[in-house]
Amino acid sequence: MLSNELLNYAKSLGFGQLYFKIDQTAQLYAVIALHSTRLGPALGGCRFMEYPSIDLAIHDALRLAQGMSYKAALANLPLGGGKTVLMRPTSLEARNSYFQTLGRFVNDLNGRYIIAMDSGVNTRDMDNIALETSYVVTTSEQGNPAPYTALGVLHGIKAAVKFKFYRDSLEGLHIAIQGVGQVGASLADMLHKEHARLSICDSNQTLVEKHAKKLGAAIIKPEAIYSLECDIFSPCALGAILNDESIPQLKAAIVAGAANNQLAELRHAKLLQTKGILYTPDYVINAGGLIYAYAEYHNFNKRFVEQKIQTIYDTLLRIFKSAKDKDKPPHEIADNMAKTQLTSTLQAKNKYTVI
Ligand code: NAD
Repeated sequence: MLSNELLNYAKSLGFGQLYFKIDQTAQLYAVIALHSTRLGPALGGCRFMEYPSIDLAIHDALRLAQGMSYKAALANLPLGGGKTVLMRPTSLEARNSYFQTLGRFVNDLNGRYIIAMDSGVNTRDMDNIALETSYVVTTSEQGNPAPYTALGVLHGIKAAVKFKFYRDSLEGLHIAIQGVGQVGASLADMLHKEHARLSICDSNQTLVEKHAKKLGAAIIKPEAIYSLECDIFSPCALGAILNDESIPQLKAAIVAGAANNQLAELRHAKLLQTKGILYTPDYVINAGGLIYAYAEYHNFNKRFVEQKIQTIYDTLLRIFKSAKDKDKPPHEIADNMAKTQLTSTLQAKNKYTVI
């Protein structure tokens, strides 16, 4: 039975629909949360992780699905927001059939939800899902969204630089990147081509050394990245890194990076504003991957993707300007813009559906 706490949380986020599938033979315990389908089918990733309880898995699914709705709304995509959370068993006996079972579950939703890759899932898993449903994207035939996420972050950084420093060029600006994984490394390449000065860190020493050598970037210890004297701090590794400990250390004038859920709590947006740091709302700046997934799903071409990703620049400038006019953090403005697009008919259209 769903606890009142979870139902109230779902209500506070403006949900939505919540689906469960249990298949003991396949060891599948899956939650699919559809925050909104008002703007179109909900597209969102599938997270495969160990959860200590079903309540925590549902909580994660609700929170992440709402984030996807906001991301799609501000990217002006005809998509809703959804997320799959899979409670990873300690040992999985038949991975292929596990993901095929999930594919049938997605198919049962008749296109209200399009599933994509997320933490713990690989392209082979997505291919197994695709054996059972066509409501799927990010299979091995389709490319990796990370370079497109990085491209969106590049446009977002340029918008922040325009707003904060009144300039178009990134030349000579000192940018510190936290995490040179798929997105961070691609972003570092792009910033290098724009003649920015780079400092990078990663918990993977081999990776950081490889990229530092290629780009002539300085290597920073992971724990020293927050207090580094730089113009822009670009978080591309983990969530919740903007918190009571890190924010007082920051010396950058701009925080703009790909990581999801960078603010530990909403109040940290205000703390950044008070320090005079321009924070670029994460789900706006990192929408390039979603745009790419949407385009792949519909077989739209690369030109469409690049033009759509370019609009992240204008959206962010609008958000920054409104934030300044209203003396509010950009994150709050972005949330309000997303809610305006979603809430008007959300309550009427989306009822709780538990199957
Ligand atoms: P990734 O796993 O490829 O890269 C993350 C990197 O961060 C890894 O190299 C890891 O070693 C490093 N790292 C982990 N902990 C660290 C720490 N404490 N300090 C420094 N480095 C650390 O992931 P990714 O696909 O590049 O995604 C990066 C972030 O962007 C994630 O938060 C992800 O949710 C978000 N994001 C990614 C995409 C995408 O298209 N891949 C889209 C939207 C948002």
